[in-house]
Amino acid sequence: MENCPVCQESVDDDITMFSCNHGVCSSCFEGLLEHNQLKCPVCRNPVVEYFQNEERIRIVVRSDDSETNGNNSLSLAVLYRELTKYRIRYYCISFFMIYFLYLFLNERIINYNLELENRDCNRKIDNMTITYNHFLNIKNDLMDVIIYNPLNKVPYVCSIPRFFYNQCFNLV
Ligand SMILES: [Zn+2]
Ligand SMILES: [Zn+2]
Repeated sequence: MENCPVCQESVDDDITMFSCNHGVCSSCFEGLLEHNQLKCPVCRNPVVEYFQNEERIRIVVRSDDSETNGNNSLSLAVLYRELTKYRIRYYCISFFMIYFLYLFLNERIINYNLELENRDCNRKIDNMTITYNHFLNIKNDLMDVIIYNPLNKVPYVCSIPRFFYNQCFNLV
């Protein structure tokens, strides 16, 4: 259908497309590469990437200037800066990973301790022969108790479940 703008031959399946939407046949493209002419032969735009079989390929040109000392130290500085950025990022990520691991483990430990405590608590309640429903009932049946501490002479009013009041203060 289309013809290569360089050799005028038809380019049906071996077309190499540039970002400017012009394309050449593959052998002409190799010629362009060999002659170091990385410009579109139609619109003279510099070619920084091309598409072959739907694959996008970027062209990286190493200019001769980069081999002089000045530019070398410049790229070293850039490299060092990138390395520093990478290190900072690495430390931040490590810190947060350790922090979240700590939070996670901490919660697990708290849960585990609560479980142990609850196990104890259940046993105590069993000894007192209080069922859980019973406990819920007595929990809401509160009464006010005045607690007087002779040392500071300030009375406190506390609301405690009647059941516990009976257990602790009405000793018979
Ligand atoms: Zn061609
Ligand atoms: Zn072009």
